[in-house]
Amino acid sequence: MLAALLALPVAHYIRRHRDHLHQTAAPLSSPDKAAMAPYFQAELLDQVRIAQRDPLPIPNPPFTRLLQQLGFDYPDLSLTAAITFGHLIATRAPMSHSLLFHELVHVVQYRQLGLPAFARHYVQGILTHRAYEQIPLEACAFQLEARFQLEPKPFDSDAEVAAWLQTASSTRPSQAGPSAARQFSCPTENRATSRCPSPELSKSAAASASGRIARKLSKLRP
Ligand SMILES: [Zn+2]
Repeated sequence: MLAALLALPVAHYIRRHRDHLHQTAAPLSSPDKAAMAPYFQAELLDQVRIAQRDPLPIPNPPFTRLLQQLGFDYPDLSLTAAITFGHLIATRAPMSHSLLFHELVHVVQYRQLGLPAFARHYVQGILTHRAYEQIPLEACAFQLEARFQLEPKPFDSDAEVAAWLQTASSTRPSQAGPSAARQFSCPTENRATSRCPSPELSKSAAASASGRIARKLSKLRP
């Protein structure tokens, strides 16, 4: 209930800045599109727009200062390298393929959830986990980004996000118990904006996610 209420101004913030930045944003470059083509639908890559500015001409999302004052680990926008509003990716500098991949996962999440639900899930995620990197929709993006970095074989990001959302929705507390809910709380319940740390922070977060994935894979392999 609280997340649903707080998500309303967040959804408004996303919509407003998406529409404003879209006016001067550019399509993906041909090399970037070619690099992402094995992982994302061509129609999505055609629709995405990139707004590059430094500093980003965007205020902090609603409640950022309050969350920080309450001790939540939620970075200021000035520390972020990129932020995604629907199909619009705002970035301070040219993006690496890893960062672009991460943001495109958020675009997929927006498309599958719809903007209002994305906002609600993001807000629920920060309220539940109290840390940016643990917001389930962020964790989802970091994990797929790590696979993009580590695995030589392309995968279907749409299918991966859909499966993640399905797993989350099928392991709600009422159905699977609190431990399962904690383990798979990814999407269907948390979300609002997609923000990514500065290159340094993003690197360490991605490395951390990569480490987790690598450890998991090593356990599965003989
Ligand atoms: Zn992100």
